[in-house]
Amino acid sequence: MNPVRRQLHPEERALLDFLLSTDFPGRDELKKQTENITVVGECKCGCGTIKLQVDPNCVAAKLEKSIPIEAYGEALDVLLFAAAGFLGMLEIVFYADPPEKPYPRPEHLRLWPRPHASTH
Ligand SMILES: [Zn+2]
Repeated sequence: MNPVRRQLHPEERALLDFLLSTDFPGRDELKKQTENITVVGECKCGCGTIKLQVDPNCVAAKLEKSIPIEAYGEALDVLLFAAAGFLGMLEIVFYADPPEKPYPRPEHLRLWPRPHASTH
């Protein structure tokens, strides 16, 4: 991770909004956290994964999973990580290691909330 300190880019904001557009336990608190959020790290490999920091005064979300929501597209996954109820990372995983890594757009993705009874 390269340390940075910046606001979300519009395409990152769109992806985050998309991930939080479906209902799951703790979603409302996470959505609130995105109102005051800072990007504090960027992956060096060019995949677009970013580390997030929320206002420490935000209300923590009561989450059942450290990855409460993910989305998948063609040969890629988008994972939203939260630690102790606070947004921590927006990870983009490319499976085929393509030479170009366009930033994932909501219209190319399908949401997948973790099933409640999942064992992993
Ligand atoms: Zn990367």
